[in-house]
Amino acid sequence: MNEYTKAVIDSTTEKNPAETEYLQAVREVLTTIDPVVEKHKEFKKLAILERMVEPERTIMFRVPWVNDEGQTIVNRGFRVQFSSLIGPYKGGLRFHPSVNLSIMKFLGFEQIFKNALTGLPIGGAKGGSNFNPKGKSDAEIMRFCQSFMTELYRHIGHDVDVPAGDIGVGGREIGYLFGQYRRIRDAYEGGVLTGKDPIYGGSLARTEATGYGLLFFMREMLAANNISIKDKTVTISGAGNVAIYACEKAQAMGAKVVTMSDSNGCIYDENGIDLALVKEIKEVKRGRIKEYLDKHPEAKYIEKSGSANPAWTTKTDIALPCATQNELNLEDAKTLVKNGVLAVGEGANMPCTEEATIYLLEHKILVAPAKAANAGGVATSAIEMTQNSIRYYYTFDEVVEKLDKIMTNIFKSCKDASEKYGVAGNYVAGANIAAFEKLAKAMEAQGVV
Ligand code: NDP
Repeated sequence: MNEYTKAVIDSTTEKNPAETEYLQAVREVLTTIDPVVEKHKEFKKLAILERMVEPERTIMFRVPWVNDEGQTIVNRGFRVQFSSLIGPYKGGLRFHPSVNLSIMKFLGFEQIFKNALTGLPIGGAKGGSNFNPKGKSDAEIMRFCQSFMTELYRHIGHDVDVPAGDIGVGGREIGYLFGQYRRIRDAYEGGVLTGKDPIYGGSLARTEATGYGLLFFMREMLAANNISIKDKTVTISGAGNVAIYACEKAQAMGAKVVTMSDSNGCIYDENGIDLALVKEIKEVKRGRIKEYLDKHPEAKYIEKSGSANPAWTTKTDIALPCATQNELNLEDAKTLVKNGVLAVGEGANMPCTEEATIYLLEHKILVAPAKAANAGGVATSAIEMTQNSIRYYYTFDEVVEKLDKIMTNIFKSCKDASEKYGVAGNYVAGANIAAFEKLAKAMEAQGVV
């Protein structure tokens, strides 16, 4: 590895010793862009890498709120404004008990590259809280969101920073956050948050965008390798926003999806997942995936034990991890390869561990990296911002058509970059290189800021 690249990895590790997820994301990007750094000796003098890995601004704040029993609870809020190089900070909010600074920084760092790949003018950010929405009443969720926004509002704006949803933050939460922002600012600024309901300024197809986009990318990647998705078996982890719409599009493309999961366990239905039922359980009742068996007793339920994810022990052609980071480890990768998997598509952010990705690539499995493959969500968020600015709304089909084009272009950028640097077929490296080249150029052009 280039000495400069290695020195930046070492100094980042030294400065952030406890931030394991963030360091994992930095290592993954920096090791794959090494050939570009090797070619551009001027990057060292300009400290391009040091500037790329350091957030422009990190905000941490207290979020006090009162639960239904009258108890005051204090959570921690975050917004990591990583880069505004090519557009306003843009990235989702995650509400999950595991949220900490390392996870926020890893997600913010990934987001810069992802957003650059979309070809749209958006910078990178991430935010959230260690608040756990599970089991909370609507009134508790609303009070939490209002308190969270009462601090966040001063740091965001449609030309400054535009948050959206992520794990634990869906349409309901975005609604409460937007309402509080609008009240504080005393103005309707539609483009300040994306993922809004279309009745008050959201984009049609934003809900479906990440899952659909993943399948558009997968279709292109398979086609470039002379494989069709039709009649393939697909295993999916997660049963949230990304997983549900990945399943919907995979089924529409003629594939058979046989698993979905949540943090408690996984369902396996050899007849193909009944998606209408999963939507009813997850989107309407906010229940557990196990309830699938109430209507389909012939399906199997496998309880999650330890770190193993039961979705990956099933024989499959295509595996789509759509739940959370590091949910597909080296053991899982070995099992998938042994069972003849053809492709892995990352719907979640960084779902494969470093070792798993290396193992899959070494075994010539096609890997669609998260930064590229799940960029459809943020790309559609950018389309939502456009609609808010022009005060005109596209039809569902118009948005999906734009999304399809964007995902097709993203795949092409990854493929071209991998070929240009002699790693053809390694779309993980291709995605990092394509995004990095663009960002480094923008950084050089804007001087030392
Ligand atoms: P949701 O909250 O809608 O769903 C998350 C799903 O993953 C749930 O089924 C949840 O189960 C499961 N899950 C969460 N944490 C764990 C865990 N530690 N172990 C096992 N299962 C878990 O989130 P999204 O679908 O929006 O996001 C999923 C992933 O996709 C995340 O990595 C997110 O960053 C990424 N992503 C999302 C985008 C979007 O537009 N929504 C855009 C790009 C990336 P349970 O309900 O039991 O917690």
